[in-house]
Amino acid sequence: MKNFKKGTLFVVSAPSGGGKGTILKRVFNDDDKVFYSVSSTTRAPRDEDTPGVTYNFITNEQFEKMIADNAFLEYAGYCDNYYGTPSAPVFENLNAGKDVVLEIETQGAFNVKKVFPEAALIFLMPPSLKELRRRLEKRGTETKESIEKRMDQAKREIPLAEKYDYIVINDGLEKAVADFSAVCEAARLRCHADELVKEVFENA
Ligand code: 5GP
Repeated sequence: MKNFKKGTLFVVSAPSGGGKGTILKRVFNDDDKVFYSVSSTTRAPRDEDTPGVTYNFITNEQFEKMIADNAFLEYAGYCDNYYGTPSAPVFENLNAGKDVVLEIETQGAFNVKKVFPEAALIFLMPPSLKELRRRLEKRGTETKESIEKRMDQAKREIPLAEKYDYIVINDGLEKAVADFSAVCEAARLRCHADELVKEVFENA
C-alpha cells in the first residue's frame, strides 16, 4: 500500500445490524495508520459497548452544547437519539497522515461529503431485508419496537446507496472483507490523484 502525506477519510454506512463492525475490524484493525473516529451519542450504552471506545456517551445537554460550540464535523438524529462526529480528532489524524474511518448513517455521510468532498463514501449493503432482520434479531440487543424502527430506517437508507462512491455487498464475511479492502485501496489512490500525478512527473 502506498503512503501519502495526508490520510484518506473513509465514511462507512450500513443499516443497523449489517455486520459493519466485524468487517471493519478485519479490514483495518491491526493497522496503526488508521484512526477510528469515536462518535458522541445520547443513546444508552449496550452490553457490548465500551464508553470512550465504541462511543462517548453523553447527555442531551452536553450534545447540544457541542453543537453550539461547533465541535461536530456532522451530526444527525437517528431512532430518537443524537449521534455526532467530533471534528478535531478527524482533522488532526488526517493531517498526521493517518486514514480516518467514520461509521455513520446516511444523512451524516452526505453532510461530510459536502464539507469534505475528497471523502470516500462506502455503503455496506445487506444481501436482503430478510437477512438484515434475521441479524438484528440474532444480536438480541434490541427490543421488538427498536428492531421495527431500525428496519424502517434501513428501508429509507438502502435506496440512498446510489449516491455513495462505492458499494460492498455483505453476503459472506471473507468476500466482503476482500471487496472492502479493494475498494479502500481504489479510494486511497483516487483521493490522492494530484499527489500521484506530481510524483510521476517529478520522476520523469
Ligand atoms: P447504533 O445505535 O446501532 O450504534 O448506531 C445507529 C446508527 O448511527 C448507525 O447507522 C451508525 O452508523 C450511526 N452513527 C454512529 N455514530 C454516528 C455519528 O457520529 N454520526 C452519524 N450521523 N451517525 C452515526
